[in-house]
Amino acid sequence: MTGSDADAIVVGGGLAGAAAAIAVAKAGLRTIHLAPAGPPDRRTSALMMPSVDYLRSAGLIDDPAELGHALTQIRIIDATNRLIRAPETLFDAGEAGMTAFGWNFANSRLLERFHAAAAEMSSLETRNAGATDLSGNTVTLTDGSRLSAPLIVGADGKKSLVRSAAGIHARENAFAQAALVCNLDLGRPIGGTSIEFHYPQGPFTLVPAGANRANLVWIDDRAVLDAAKAGGNDALAATFLDKSQRLFGAVTLASPAFVFPLSTLSVDHAGADGVVLVGEAAHAFPPIGAQGLNLGLRDVADLAEALAAVDRAAPGWASRVSADYPARRAADLARTGGMVDTLFRSLLADMLPAQALRAGGLWALKLAPALRRQAFAVGMGNR
Ligand SMILES: Cc1cc2nc3c(=O)[nH]c(=O)nc-3n(C[C@H](O)[C@H](O)[C@H](O)COP(=O)(O)OP(=O)(O)OC[C@H]3O[C@@H](n4cnc5c(N)ncnc54)[C@H](O)[C@@H]3O)c2cc1C
Repeated sequence: MTGSDADAIVVGGGLAGAAAAIAVAKAGLRTIHLAPAGPPDRRTSALMMPSVDYLRSAGLIDDPAELGHALTQIRIIDATNRLIRAPETLFDAGEAGMTAFGWNFANSRLLERFHAAAAEMSSLETRNAGATDLSGNTVTLTDGSRLSAPLIVGADGKKSLVRSAAGIHARENAFAQAALVCNLDLGRPIGGTSIEFHYPQGPFTLVPAGANRANLVWIDDRAVLDAAKAGGNDALAATFLDKSQRLFGAVTLASPAFVFPLSTLSVDHAGADGVVLVGEAAHAFPPIGAQGLNLGLRDVADLAEALAAVDRAAPGWASRVSADYPARRAADLARTGGMVDTLFRSLLADMLPAQALRAGGLWALKLAPALRRQAFAVGMGNR
């Protein structure tokens, strides 16, 4: 391995990058992780049971109850005034033979855990530096120095420099909608039920965060969210009270509100020529059905499998990994992207056929146990 500083360089210090760096180092590769310090990640992530099981098996978390909150039910309330309305639907994890669909975690707490796990690994070096260029298998860092490795892992988010430098074509479609997130304290406990109010411009979702605390994800036109935020906390709390249909009594803000722009992004293939992409560098979509990080963790699991399958004593191993990994990911990326896209468009659709389809779909899910089981399996990302 002459001329290389490591076996792999992972670029990007978000959750996908941190999980990938640990997985790559665990696979036995000398790994450098470029993770420039940034502002705290204010998002929360509902991770479905397969992702939680992966985090446990990878030694990244122990008992999920130490860090997060169980999601045992999902309640969908049609708050539109559409001609054809969907029924109120309650999905219970017990029906699928599970104690919970998954767990809701604060991203910042998960990242702390990942950092603690990374600090224990002698084969993993983390640097507080970004990449400014990638040429072949050489990365230029923000301090001007250069590092080379046969395998480059791009985990540098939607605007991935690694992706564009590697010449991997991405399609991005920005939406007029955005997501406003913040923590709320409610007048009554929310239990383990995630509640989605489906308004015409997008869902208003309360995700359980323990006792009376909920994490809000409100999707609406960007201009509406910016104006609501600019109105100050009292006006925001009044809007939330109204939008939550007073189901939980008084609502107060327990954190500042943040607005995230929304887009979909997909790539033709998630790797080539010694470069692989994980997380939002390879795929992004609106936070509907809580799929983004779940999919990012499945990227990491498949990358670990591609590394386990290759003979690293043979020349050209990194090229083989970067050909094998996208092939492993293709079906899951296409299926999940298609599912979220259809869901998002049907939630926002004003067209009568789409309303009827969605209402009909939810009636079918409400009434047919076999269909519900199938829907659970798709939403959970079961393979
Ligand atoms: C409102 C909202 C709610 C969500 N809820 C859920 C949910 O419930 N469940 C779920 O599964 N997913 C959810 N998601 C999606 C999930 O948050 C993302 O998929 C996930 O956090 C993306 O992680 P990432 O590491 O790929 O990207 P990012 O978090 O964007 O991290 C990319 C990192 O790369 C770094 N970087 C960028 N350029 C460079 C460079 N040149 N050199 C070095 N580093 C660089 C950045 O600083 C950043 O730290 C949600 C998203 C939003 C917006």
